[in-house]
Amino acid sequence: MAGRYEQNTTCEFFVTCDFCVKIMASVPQFSSKIQNKYCLAGFADCARYAYAKQHGFGSIPEDLFPSAFYL
Ligand code: SF4
Repeated sequence: MAGRYEQNTTCEFFVTCDFCVKIMASVPQFSSKIQNKYCLAGFADCARYAYAKQHGFGSIPEDLFPSAFYL
């Protein structure tokens, strides 16, 4: 049962993010590590997530990696 203070740990862009849908699909051995580190847990640390929140989801550069430095 979900507790009152339970937090959603899955990124809101998980099913639509090009990085997940296109790029990581072609490298499955790499994708599980990225998804477990960012998409399913620490999305707040993802550069793509930060960029989307600041500039809009549709404007994320294709080549921006989750581990990139972005403020
Ligand atoms: S790569 Fe970043 S923006 Fe895309 S689904 Fe994963 S955490 Fe979200």
